[in-house]
Amino acid sequence: MDAAPAYQVVARRYRPQRFADLVGQEHVARGLSGAIESGRVGHAYLFTGARGVGKTSAARIFAKALQCANGPAPEPCNECDACRDIAAGQDVDVVEIDAASNRGVDEIRQLRQNVAVRPARGRAKVYIIDEVHMLTREAFNALLKTLEEPPGHVKFVLCTTEPDKLPITILSRCQRFDFTIVAPGPIARRLAQIVEAEGAEVTPAALDLIARRAAGSMRDSQSLLEQLLGSATGHIGIDEVHALIGTGREERVGEIISAIAARDAAAALAAFDAAVQGGADPGGVLDQLVAALRDCLLASVGCGPDVMTQPAGLGVDLAGLGRQMGTATLLAMLQILDQTLSRMSLSSHVGVLAEMALVRLAHLEDLDSLAAAVAGLPESPAAASAAPPREKKTPELTLPRPQPAPVARAEPEPEPRPESPVARPVSPEAPPQSPAVPRTEPRTEPRLPPKPEAVEPRAVEPRAVPARSQAALLRETANHPLVAHARSLFDASIRRVEKRQPPAAEMAAPTTSDESTGGQINDANASEHAGVE
Ligand SMILES: [Zn+2]
Repeated sequence: MDAAPAYQVVARRYRPQRFADLVGQEHVARGLSGAIESGRVGHAYLFTGARGVGKTSAARIFAKALQCANGPAPEPCNECDACRDIAAGQDVDVVEIDAASNRGVDEIRQLRQNVAVRPARGRAKVYIIDEVHMLTREAFNALLKTLEEPPGHVKFVLCTTEPDKLPITILSRCQRFDFTIVAPGPIARRLAQIVEAEGAEVTPAALDLIARRAAGSMRDSQSLLEQLLGSATGHIGIDEVHALIGTGREERVGEIISAIAARDAAAALAAFDAAVQGGADPGGVLDQLVAALRDCLLASVGCGPDVMTQPAGLGVDLAGLGRQMGTATLLAMLQILDQTLSRMSLSSHVGVLAEMALVRLAHLEDLDSLAAAVAGLPESPAAASAAPPREKKTPELTLPRPQPAPVARAEPEPEPRPESPVARPVSPEAPPQSPAVPRTEPRTEPRLPPKPEAVEPRAVEPRAVPARSQAALLRETANHPLVAHARSLFDASIRRVEKRQPPAAEMAAPTTSDESTGGQINDANASEHAGVE
């Protein structure tokens, strides 16, 4: 080997070197080494799967097993020159191409010319094309020509995180292996091996937290571990991991969930505040809540303990809380958190958004018993008066139902609306269209729980399409940015006509915006007054 490299990151130093080392991808390892053993090696393979799950590592192991001086063998020896050169990325017959930076037709033409040349040392030439979905259409066409009639000594391994972007003509010429995301358990075991090899001390609970945080990506978990080893010294526990990834202590998350289940917003906010004071990041805490509520949700639909991912450190019975809160309520909660997290990525006041979300969760109605109550209601003819659904943000909740189009507008407000309190806190700082958003979440919920076939479509309908009062609709319309803009233009032109004073007309321009916002409020009031008059 060459002179010792300065420093190699953990993920590279501990890259798997044999099929048996591929964590969580046993089906792939079996398929590939079986193909070599039986002499039925195809000429093109497609490895798909999320980032960091071992696609490129598997491709290299496969290349080694084909080229090994003691092979072709079901496992490479990792001793011979070929094995060592391939592992170091220096073998002339194993070519790795990053399609993200070589995506044009010229690069692929070059590749086609090289393909014709016989291997210099090994039995085969192996082309590993990473991120193959990044190739241009012309490049795919050029590659296709090679895939159609490759020379016998050429093997292709195409790796991608997005197989849907590949042309069907390419897909149909490859043997496809789907890499799965890796479960936290195997990741934590692998991390423990690395920690031991590095001579470090990290508690199993800390490794477990890293493994869960990596969300199935072995490489992400190793990068986190490396960061941890670099930032902390001595005996490393779970607090160091929390500090690194911005999450709160697990008992805090448990407290928040208990408070939400008890509909105690103040207690939820207190626990959240304590987590943030302890160094957690608001988004990190909400992420933890999502993970814990996910376990609650699975328990609420009857899943067993084997699918639970949350540690016992939360100190609460997630399964019990899940059954207590009910599936529909949990779905709505998760949706609120999901929307909040995506809004937080764009916002500069993430703490407030997180607190708003917690208050909304704690104030959420018991949607399951609501749904049960609704299922028992007689059909209301006024259901048709509902406004058409305007929101697109909750498509997953509106799935299970054929939708008869709401027709005639009868009188507004047919029944006292069980207006959810969660709709309120948002409006002050939300963008104009969002007052509508929270309103639909709780309302669309009751459709979800299974109900007798005969009752569901009509009894649930009134809630599915929220009835709005005329005044509310007018108010929302008046607040729409386009309407406001049109009104400001209109106001400005009126003013120009009324005041025929050239200098004042120039001055009027800047004031229009102020006046138009005032106009909005006036108009909204006016529209309500209009109804009275
Ligand atoms: Zn070898």
